Amino acid sequence: MHKSGFVNIIGKPNVGKSTLMNSLLGERMSIITSKPQTTRHRILGIYNDDNHQIIFSDSPGLIEDPSYGMHQSMNKFAYSSFEDADILLFVLDLYEDYEGDEKVIALLKATDAPKYLVINKIDLDKDGRLDALKTKWETILQFDKIFEISALKKMGLDELKASIFAELKEGPAYYPKDQLSDKNTRFFVSEIVRETILQQYKQEIPYSCEVIIDEYKESEKNGKPFAHIYGTIFVSRKTQKSIIIGKGGSAIKKLGTESRLKVEEFVGHPVFIQMNVKVRENWRDDERQLKHFGY
Ligand code: GDP
Ligand code: MG
Repeated sequence: MHKSGFVNIIGKPNVGKSTLMNSLLGERMSIITSKPQTTRHRILGIYNDDNHQIIFSDSPGLIEDPSYGMHQSMNKFAYSSFEDADILLFVLDLYEDYEGDEKVIALLKATDAPKYLVINKIDLDKDGRLDALKTKWETILQFDKIFEISALKKMGLDELKASIFAELKEGPAYYPKDQLSDKNTRFFVSEIVRETILQQYKQEIPYSCEVIIDEYKESEKNGKPFAHIYGTIFVSRKTQKSIIIGKGGSAIKKLGTESRLKVEEFVGHPVFIQMNVKVRENWRDDERQLKHFGY
């Protein structure tokens, strides 16, 4: 019998959703960053073996007070995760005082799919917070199961996995068995560049950037796989453009080199990357721009 299903991971930003998905799926997905707010889109990660296909989705965190058009759109992605789940994983951070906003609780209550409460970061538990947190949530909402895990230290994941396997129903493979994600290499390259921007630039710069890969050309070099990648970094102001580029182009050169190394690790062969910078004023609030960027 072949089993399959959609397992949607939800929860506030920074609780460890991406880390959990990476830990459940294995090494290759983990190139995807674990920096807060880096996931702006829903990303599917696909687990395959001969008898199972589990499609995990990692949503952008639920932002309680969406202030930009982009945030509202990120929430739309997040809320859509309630609708198409076969199993919902609601992730809590042991160290965050989260009362649960009413909208999320209402959506959780209205969901027919099995709901698991996943308390993450138990590697940090020193003072018995775990019991208090469980008691609190039991009065808010009835979950089908509760798991205590550390996504980072890979604690408690076997129990969670076993339960997911047991819960899944008979079903076909929705994606080819060798596919790791619904997103293509271009998408991951843009995420990698964005992650590198986050690491390299301070303050509001990273959050003002959008990265588009304009061209991804596979080729060969000395009989081995190679790719030429051309992309654009969109920023909202001219001053940000000069910061991205840096003195004499030093900053963007460093960005290019760092990104290239990570992309090479991800695709498994050498690549060439060239990034241009363009100013698009207030892209985060501009409906048409957001559509163009896929929000
Ligand atoms: P997301 O926003 O919900 O996707 O959260 P991330 O997966 O990006 O994780 C946010 C931060 O929490 C990162 O710095 C992770 O390394 C950290 N983190 C995630 N899981 C754990 C865990 O089990 N234990 C500890 N100590 N840190 C964790
Ligand atoms: Mg994330």
